[in-house]
Amino acid sequence: MIISNFIDGKFTEPIEERMMDNFNPADGTHIATIPRASAADVDAAVLSAKKALPQWSALTILERADWLDKIADALEEIKEEIAQTESLDTGKPISLARSTDAARSISNFRFFAEFARSQEPLVFEMSDATNYVHTSPLGIVGLITPWNLPLYLLTWKVAPALLMGNCIIAKPSEITPLTANLLARTMQRLQLPDGVFNLVHGLGPEVGQAILEHPDIGGISFTGGTSTGRIVARTAAPLFKKLSLELGGKNATIILDDANLESVVPGVIRAAFTNSGQVCLCGSRILIHQSIYDEFCKQFVEQVDAMVVGDPSDESTQLGSVISMEHLQKIESYIDLAIEEGGEILSGGSRAMTGQVGPNPAGAYIRPTVIGGLSHLSRTSTEEIFGPVVTLHSFTTDDEAIEMANCTEYGLAGSIWTEDAERGRQLAERVDSGMVWVNTWMHRDLRTPFGGVKNSGVGREGGRWSLSFFSEMTNVCVKR
Ligand code: NAD
Repeated sequence: MIISNFIDGKFTEPIEERMMDNFNPADGTHIATIPRASAADVDAAVLSAKKALPQWSALTILERADWLDKIADALEEIKEEIAQTESLDTGKPISLARSTDAARSISNFRFFAEFARSQEPLVFEMSDATNYVHTSPLGIVGLITPWNLPLYLLTWKVAPALLMGNCIIAKPSEITPLTANLLARTMQRLQLPDGVFNLVHGLGPEVGQAILEHPDIGGISFTGGTSTGRIVARTAAPLFKKLSLELGGKNATIILDDANLESVVPGVIRAAFTNSGQVCLCGSRILIHQSIYDEFCKQFVEQVDAMVVGDPSDESTQLGSVISMEHLQKIESYIDLAIEEGGEILSGGSRAMTGQVGPNPAGAYIRPTVIGGLSHLSRTSTEEIFGPVVTLHSFTTDDEAIEMANCTEYGLAGSIWTEDAERGRQLAERVDSGMVWVNTWMHRDLRTPFGGVKNSGVGREGGRWSLSFFSEMTNVCVKR
């Protein structure tokens, strides 16, 4: 398959005619040739966005909400193709690609369409005047996204950006470009006005950097690693671009002494190993009250041992491959580090080649891995691995649990498991993170603020926070 950029409503070859390869991480096969675009392609995309902006931004928000519904309807028709394509490109199980990636990519558009219809005008009365808050689009926005939830995270930005009247230059991860291509195809089929949505494929330091530096792009919404986020901030800040940064995490799962292990263990496993631990929200540091530590370990390890690592297209597969051989080697280097740091491998720790439901030896498969015996301050326990590797730690008091939870540079998410929901809620407020779940994980209401503190990001997405990011406000004060 050869895919192209999507600029000005047309699929176009990269101006410098350079291409690169895209592989299926589950078996190492070549699946697509994609543009390795350059700053010249970004220029062309910005030019087309500039032409489209006056008309697109002149529509009412309700008219644009209708567009979002049309996009959702069209994606719904190709839902299975989205799931199959995402599974092929990422190595994730088809069941997960259906239930999470494809489903959420559609509901991102539906949600923002409905949300727009529920908005009331912002008006503030004074005794002698009325303030009207007028909202206008930012203009042309750059959307840069990672490989772990490719279309899910791209549409999470595209939907509110379109809704607020912006024109888009999107750059998906070069590792997972295929579903963004499906989105472009959908936009073309629906005849979304030319230039409103542009897609430029290529490498971060080339296309991504050109988006960051382009003087006509007024806002950047970036999701990716913390070190890339630093580059994004360094480049965009002197240009005074509006910036949203959704970055890495090393999230704590806290299990209190009163937790009911029978129901908690499956929840903690889901938090740890969904998408092979390649979700920024995954709970990779599991903090367990000392009184239940041994029993928790026993049940947890038993259930992790039984997890099925296999071919992503097999319905029974729980963990597919990780995203690439290179990433697999990074994960393995952390397992080696854990052993050097004095850790004990309690489950997994090695590539999944045999005794499983047919993983291909050329694929990037690793067993879900549980490590005990490490200090909570060790590198393994504090650095983001972004794979199916968790460390277990015990604590004795709530204060100690909070101190351990807050001991990393990150502050994205966390979860607390207890029979006493109010105790959990109160403790959650003390976790330095943008999101904390009590007795659940990744239970998402799209109206709520999503984002991180510390080195996990700047700003929030979701509901009114997304609308606010993708717009400018003018307060008009009319004196009576
Ligand atoms: P990454 O930072 O390597 O890449 C993300 C995107 O940035 C890609 O499209 C890449 O091409 C681009 N990029 C790279 N260098 C660039 C540059 N110099 N200028 C502009 N763009 C550049 O991240 P990744 O490996 O694709 O994704 C994994 C990371 O994303 C993890 O750290 C994970 O925690 C994080 N993540 C965070 C969230 C969140 O919501 N906080 C969600 C998903 C993933």
